[in-house]
Amino acid sequence: MNNFSYTKTKEVADAALLLKDNPGNKAIAGGTNIVDLMKYFIVEADTLVDINGIPGMDELSETENGGVRLGALMTNAATAYHPVIEEKYPLLSKTILAGASAQIRNMATNGGNLLQKTRCYYFYDPYVPCNKREPGSGCPAIKGYNRMHAILGHSSDCIAVFPSDMCVALAALNATVLVTGQDGERQIAFEDFHRLPGNTPEIDNNLQKGEIITGIELPDEDFSKNYSYLKLRDRSSYAFALVSVATALTIENDLIAEVRIALGGVSHKPWRSAEAEEYLKGKAPSKEHFAQAADIILAEAKGFKHNRFKIDLAKKAIVRNGMMALEPESQRPGAKPSL
Ligand code: SF4
Repeated sequence: MNNFSYTKTKEVADAALLLKDNPGNKAIAGGTNIVDLMKYFIVEADTLVDINGIPGMDELSETENGGVRLGALMTNAATAYHPVIEEKYPLLSKTILAGASAQIRNMATNGGNLLQKTRCYYFYDPYVPCNKREPGSGCPAIKGYNRMHAILGHSSDCIAVFPSDMCVALAALNATVLVTGQDGERQIAFEDFHRLPGNTPEIDNNLQKGEIITGIELPDEDFSKNYSYLKLRDRSSYAFALVSVATALTIENDLIAEVRIALGGVSHKPWRSAEAEEYLKGKAPSKEHFAQAADIILAEAKGFKHNRFKIDLAKKAIVRNGMMALEPESQRPGAKPSL
């Protein structure tokens, strides 16, 4: 860890100025990722700008159009257990509780969840090349051990995946990211927030220099009856997804009226397919139709030596999770889904 200064701000504008003036300055909120990155010498900071003192950013409020605004400084735990989220957006609650540990969720913030770095093993090893850590140095994961890596949207420069569970639900729920910088506030549709690696894998998202996430808005949509999150991983707790699927449905007259399917663990950003969702609308929620949608979603998938199994795993997970969304009660601990 390098020597660094520390300052605490109480105004978004002050924090934005400090971050824009010196690219070496870094924001800290919960600190559950950046402190690790600093310990591993992956990130160095001139000044850590503590934004925890900015008032009003750790609350949930209802928006004028009937949706919900989550403060960027709300913890993941406070969000998951908030009665409004549990009742109206249970998919979000479920994904948050599938991630990390209780201790980390008590510290980690909503804004920080969006900004966490990939868990690619090579990225965390400063003694090997990595295009994301050191642009132009190479990507040892492509020919190396790539069990956890991407099968969709990767490039010849980077095959890393984005590790968040929470963001898989935010993608499915059509969230909007609220950011503030020197030029004022702006909104970013969730699907436009994270980036695919292309030839600039060192850029994870479309946040501009000096911009701070202030909140996340969820639209007024009701997916509280038919939803499910399935996270498949190498061990049953405190592990990142090999493949995860968030499914949200509305059913009218026994047919799918609205559908969202977002995948985690397969790409540099949560993955959705408009074509697959369009295919499912108006159809019966059956294994056959979910299987067809899975084929559409994975049509362009390409695996590597150690992760080709994820293509078939993702297809099966989409089908299973689609059926689980028909009976979300089956996901309670101890309950057995009747699939
Ligand atoms: Fe680095 Fe991306 Fe390659 Fe991992 S996959 S080694 S993060 S360039």
